[in-house]
Amino acid sequence: MLKKSASRARSLVSAAEISASAPTDAHPANGGAVMATPAPEEPPVVRKMFKSIDALDRDYITVGQFWQRLGRMGIWPDDPRLSGVRALLAAQAPTADPALEYSTFREIILSSELVRDALTGKMSVPDFEGFCADVKTIFEESLPSRGGKVADYIPQLAKVDPEQFAVSLCTVDGQRFSYGDAATRFCLQSTCKPINYCMALEELGEATVHDHIGREPSGHSFNAITLNDRGLPHNPLINAGAIMCCSLIRRDLPPSERFDYVLDKWQELTGGERPGFNNAVYLSERETADRNNALAYFMREKGAFPSKADNLTQILEFYFQCCSIELNASQLAVVAGAIANAGVCPLTGQRVFSPQNVKNCLSLMYSCGMYDFSGEFAFTIGLPAKSGVSGALWVVIPNLLGICIWSPKLDKNGNSVRGIEFCRKLVDRYLFHAYDSIGGDHNKKDPRLAKGEDKVKELLLLITAAVNGDLPSLQRLEARGVDLNAGDYDRRTALHLAASEGQLNAVRYLLERGVAPAPVDRWGGTPLDDAIREHHHEVAEVLRAAGEGA
Ligand code: GLU
Repeated sequence: MLKKSASRARSLVSAAEISASAPTDAHPANGGAVMATPAPEEPPVVRKMFKSIDALDRDYITVGQFWQRLGRMGIWPDDPRLSGVRALLAAQAPTADPALEYSTFREIILSSELVRDALTGKMSVPDFEGFCADVKTIFEESLPSRGGKVADYIPQLAKVDPEQFAVSLCTVDGQRFSYGDAATRFCLQSTCKPINYCMALEELGEATVHDHIGREPSGHSFNAITLNDRGLPHNPLINAGAIMCCSLIRRDLPPSERFDYVLDKWQELTGGERPGFNNAVYLSERETADRNNALAYFMREKGAFPSKADNLTQILEFYFQCCSIELNASQLAVVAGAIANAGVCPLTGQRVFSPQNVKNCLSLMYSCGMYDFSGEFAFTIGLPAKSGVSGALWVVIPNLLGICIWSPKLDKNGNSVRGIEFCRKLVDRYLFHAYDSIGGDHNKKDPRLAKGEDKVKELLLLITAAVNGDLPSLQRLEARGVDLNAGDYDRRTALHLAASEGQLNAVRYLLERGVAPAPVDRWGGTPLDDAIREHHHEVAEVLRAAGEGA
């Protein structure tokens, strides 16, 4: 099930906990009267957070150090959730890097759940620095891919610097990272289509929207003049379906207000500034619109629009306007993060779309989001995504994060060459493919876990399976690629534990799988020593036969 906004749900260090540990001058035995008490004890949790930043033990930190620590967790100073914190910090002495006294720090901690979570690592991606370092490496590795060419069906698209490249990401609790040309704006083109579809769903509901649009991949190119056997566009992510979506959104409003409504939605999704609009792109789109006009007339002939009287010119103009909205990679990543977060903007906590509508949207992004490469993308990358001819691509890892990759050169399918390259490398390293959980590559990482946590968990599972003689679990762990020879911090292996507990079948199984028969633990003990000490004679025999001591 899609979960609600993660930051609220996840805070492990609550304000109540902190207040409970905070000193109070009101004495209960004295009817709450204030007494002269010795110097109050400091709240230990807050102290520890402070100390973790005050590495030099100076009893103060600087505002710069504070932001730096939050930055390492991906929390940026412009985060809308930190307006109160910014106000408190603005009151500090106006020097280049003002000191932040403990009392102010304490006030910040008490007032901001986000700061508490960030400082204690209770975020979606606990090792955010490590994850971002990998993302940066993948970016660098994708940079040399200089194939493809920029879209040139309108001059404005052909004019962009083709070598630009940006990667941005935003987790469901608003950890952000951007690299490359992430502040440069580009027009959304087809990457706006999933959002338009969500807007139509929000307003009209699934049944009505799908009275006008199908939900199958078309099997044809994105602008092919083809409809399904009901005379409807195949899905909302190809041109015909996207034009149809535009005919459904806020039919009650005049064009200017309708477009403002759309911009409002984008702004809610980014949690920040109002998006831009590229008028030159819009005008060019409108001038070179024969194909889209043909699609609209074809759909009208088939009676696909809500009303025969719909003004096709207005609908198409609205569609071109949506394609000409501009964002940068950093902003589009927040939009992707909101979709990963079941429709709630990670930076503001505002719900923009319902979880059910987001689920529908993700399903179609998964099957139809990448032009004629959609099946291949679902197969190899295994993630919902949408690309556009401006070279933008946004990808959703549900319940974890959204990513935007932007690089203008396109392959023959119309997808960003570097965008595809980046995605391939990302899923090579991380357990992001929708079906990786079935038994993916053991060497892939899971960023939801703290550094080393996956290995520790696996070892615990391995040792527990050995202690219990649980062969099916041992087999599954082996199938996942877990090292059966691994030992814990005392160098105790599965074989030590199975021998200690007299789990004959587990001992046999491990030996058959070729584990070393005589590993030595921290105290110099082997599995045979364990078996003898615990009087498991049969186990001892098997270990001897396997060559222990040889
Ligand atoms: N404005 C474009 C068109 O209709 C969208 C192209 C795209 O990104 O797929 O043709």
